[in-house]
Amino acid sequence: MTEVSYINPLSNEGRGIIRNYGDLNQIFKEDDSLIEICTHTANQKLSDDYIPKSYHDLALKRIQWAIEKKNNKNFTQAEFEFLTNDELYLQDVVTFHILCQAIAVQFNTGSRETRLFVQSQGTLILERLAKIPPMSRAEIIDDVLDEVKIDGSIKWKSLKDIVASKRLKLTDLLIDRGDIVLQQDDFLNRFADRFHDRSPDRMYSILIGDSVKEQILSRLVMQKTEEYIKRIKEMSSRIEIHPAIIKIGEELKEFIPDETGKYNQYYAGNGGIYGSVQAGKLNPDAFPPCIQETVNGVSSGGRNDAIVLLLTSFASYARLYPRIFASEENVKVSDMDPDLTITENEILPLIFDAADNCTPPLFEDQPQEKINIISKLGFGMHDRLDINHEGETKWYTPMSCEKIKIHLPNLCHPDKSCKGINNPLSCYGRKKFQLDNAQKE
Ligand code: SF4
Repeated sequence: MTEVSYINPLSNEGRGIIRNYGDLNQIFKEDDSLIEICTHTANQKLSDDYIPKSYHDLALKRIQWAIEKKNNKNFTQAEFEFLTNDELYLQDVVTFHILCQAIAVQFNTGSRETRLFVQSQGTLILERLAKIPPMSRAEIIDDVLDEVKIDGSIKWKSLKDIVASKRLKLTDLLIDRGDIVLQQDDFLNRFADRFHDRSPDRMYSILIGDSVKEQILSRLVMQKTEEYIKRIKEMSSRIEIHPAIIKIGEELKEFIPDETGKYNQYYAGNGGIYGSVQAGKLNPDAFPPCIQETVNGVSSGGRNDAIVLLLTSFASYARLYPRIFASEENVKVSDMDPDLTITENEILPLIFDAADNCTPPLFEDQPQEKINIISKLGFGMHDRLDINHEGETKWYTPMSCEKIKIHLPNLCHPDKSCKGINNPLSCYGRKKFQLDNAQKE
């Protein structure tokens, strides 16, 4: 029988496991039972690289899984199969709480690291549920829902984010007086006497699909995880944090960018040749402050314009045609990138990642902004790049500093690299040139 805490580590059972865990210093020690369970997980690839030896290793593996699952086109589940083995629930609960605390202490609550973790928890729940046989699955879903319901019911308003993100349609839900009806008992209590010629049980199965319940459950646990991280963050200024948690947090600060960096195709490892500002892989160290802030995610006003107008034009010209302002030519993206591979593989991923880093993530509530990004690259009002549509709109040139100061004042925090320039692209060109030269010396 699958334990509730395996699906919801914040359940009473999960909290009980944490209370009884004991000294946190042991998370760095080799744990025989952890190794044993991981090694004997069906379909698990066996190698020292894949099998975690300690709770600390398991915590990093969970994060690595989240990054690879999201970014690695050749992601291999068999390397992480133990994460969907329900025998590992004790270790998994402890690791979950360690990660929540380390993330709360090290990162901001709206940071991409926090979001990565929270989203990965939702994905992991769905994957775990999918592996549980249908009969036991229905039972565990009901047990978990019983505990995560707020004040005995689930208000549809608590799910407005997931509805806005289109992962769930309002029309998929059965809502009665503001409450989402999910469980069979609740359904029968409310509606059984309204069915005269059909079985209420049968109607329940028809009206409330399993996948809706699973989505809602996953979303509710994600929400609870977010709230839990926020609470720890607030408390962390008042209470002493265990050194083991601080150590893991510091490790994550290096580990997450290192692992994510393996899949970023848009940044150069080192600079190219500057000359008269030549095109080459983007160097994030040369980004002016306004672009750095945009790439890290905009959480205040101006989010849409920062991504669609500022970053789209900056990234495309900086990568493909940095000398635009010194040239009289009328250019198109395909003049520099004939088969659009650079635009597809380097420029759009950078823009889409930045959009994802925003709070709230840009495409979750405004997916139509993808079309606006394509249009600003000159490919018309379409949701993807297609050479046949090029020219339907104009390739938008980078905004001047003056315009940024007026329309996106939150993003302009000039530093010494901004001195005497009037456009972020010029700032980038100069800084990149200096960095490239410094590297050659
Ligand atoms: S001065 Fe220009 S380049 Fe520098 S941060 Fe402000 S807008 Fe960006």
